[in-house]
Amino acid sequence: GEEERAPKLRVFFMPFFASGHIIPMTDLACIFAKRPGVEPTMVTTPANAALILPTLDRSASFGHPVQLLLYSFPSAATNLPSGIENLASVSSDESWKIYKAVDLSRDAQDRIIREHTPDAIISDIPFWWTTAIAKDLGIPRITFHAVGVFPQCIMNNLVKNRVHDHVRTDSHPFTIPDLPGPSIKMMKSELPEFLKHRDHLTSAWDDLKKSQLESYGVVVNTFYELEHEYCDLFREVDCRRAWFVGPVALCDEQGKVGRGGGQSEAARENRERCIRWLGGKEAGSVLFVCFGSWCYFEDEQLREMALGLEASGMEFLWVVRGDHGEHVKTEWMPEGWEERVQGKGLVVKGWAPQAAILAHEAVGVFMTHCGWNSLLEGLGSGKPMLTWPLVFEQFMNERLVVEVHKVGVRVWDGFISSSEKEKVVVQEAD
Ligand code: UDP
Repeated sequence: GEEERAPKLRVFFMPFFASGHIIPMTDLACIFAKRPGVEPTMVTTPANAALILPTLDRSASFGHPVQLLLYSFPSAATNLPSGIENLASVSSDESWKIYKAVDLSRDAQDRIIREHTPDAIISDIPFWWTTAIAKDLGIPRITFHAVGVFPQCIMNNLVKNRVHDHVRTDSHPFTIPDLPGPSIKMMKSELPEFLKHRDHLTSAWDDLKKSQLESYGVVVNTFYELEHEYCDLFREVDCRRAWFVGPVALCDEQGKVGRGGGQSEAARENRERCIRWLGGKEAGSVLFVCFGSWCYFEDEQLREMALGLEASGMEFLWVVRGDHGEHVKTEWMPEGWEERVQGKGLVVKGWAPQAAILAHEAVGVFMTHCGWNSLLEGLGSGKPMLTWPLVFEQFMNERLVVEVHKVGVRVWDGFISSSEKEKVVVQEAD
C-alpha cells in the first residue's frame, strides 16, 4: 500500500569515542528502530562499531534493524595502534589522543553525511561542526547529551560565575550558586579539569554551546521526573528545544545482553559466568561493584578494596579493569585472598553485563563511580547505591544520588582503607 512505498525517515546517530556515549546512543537508535517509517543508522568507526554489534543483532532479531555506516578512525594522525578507537582502550596518559581524534574526524564525518544525505542527524555534543553541515543540507541536527541535566546546570553556573576561583583551598566546600533544589556544596578538587584552570578549554566550551544553541534541539538521556527543576532551568538557558528521552537503557527491557561489550569470547564468557553465579545466590544478598567502562585503580587501592570487601562479610561481584582496556593484572590480590573469598566473591576482569547484573534479583546494593549511565541504570534497578566518584562530572552526579534523591551513601574520601570500606558496606547492608 501507500505506506509501504513511503520513503523512510533516515536518521544518523553519531556518538563520541567512549562507551559511555556509544552505549546510550545505540540504545536510542534501537528505540527509533521500533518506530515504523524510521530508518536509524549508527555512524561510527570500526572498532567502536564492533562493541555494539550484539546490541544491533538483538534489535534486528526483534524485527527492529539499525543500519551501520563506518568511517575511518584517524589512527595514523593520532599515532594510536590500529583498532584502538575508544577512551577505554587507551592508557590514561594517552586519552588526549582520543580527544584529538574528535577534531581529526571532522572531514570524514562531513564526507559521509554529504554522501548519504540523511533526513536528520543526532550527534554527540563534541561534534559541533555537524550543526553547520546539517544547516547546509537543510536538515535538522539534534545535539545528544550522554550526561544528565543536573551536572550540566552546575557546570553552566560555574563557567559563568567561577565561584570556585575564590575558594581558599581545593578542599574547601563552596555552594553552587543559582541552583534550584537543595543547597549543593562541592570542592574544587571535585571539578572536571576544564573548570579547575581558568581559561582552560573555555573557547572549546563556547564552540560546543554555540553549535548546540544553533542546532534544532537537544536530546538528553534523562527523564523529567528525575531532575525536573534542573530540566526547566536547562531549557531556559541552554537550548531552544529539549527532549528528555531517558533512561534509554530501558530499550532492552530485560537487559539480557549487557550492552557495549562486543562479541569477544571474553565478554561472552563473563556474561554467562556472572549470571550463572548470581543464580546461586539469595535475593538481595550480593554487592555489585563496578566503576564504568574506563576508570581504573592503582594496585594499592585495589588491595585495600579486596580486604574491605572480604572483611564486610558480604557476597560481592566485583568488576576489575586495568589501565589498558581488557588487560587486567592480578598482582594486587592479597596473599591467599582469592581462596578465602572463593564462592563468596566473584571477580570479573574486563567487561561485565552491568544492565543484566543490576536487573538480577540476587543483587542488593550497587557500588558505583556514578557515571551517568550507571546512575540511571542503578536508579532504574531500584537498588541503593554506594557512591565512589572519581573524575569528570561524576562528583556532581553523586550529589544527585546522595543529596537530592537520598538513595545512596558515599564511600569516597580519597584513598579508602579496607576498614573504612568495611564500615560503609556493613552499615548499608544493615
Ligand atoms: N558497562 C558494562 N560493563 C562494564 C562496565 C560498564 O556494561 O563492565 C556499561 C554500563 O552499564 C554503562 C556504561 O558501560 O552503560 C558505562 O557508562 P557510565 O556513564 O556509567 O560510565 P563511563 O564508562 O562513561 O565512566
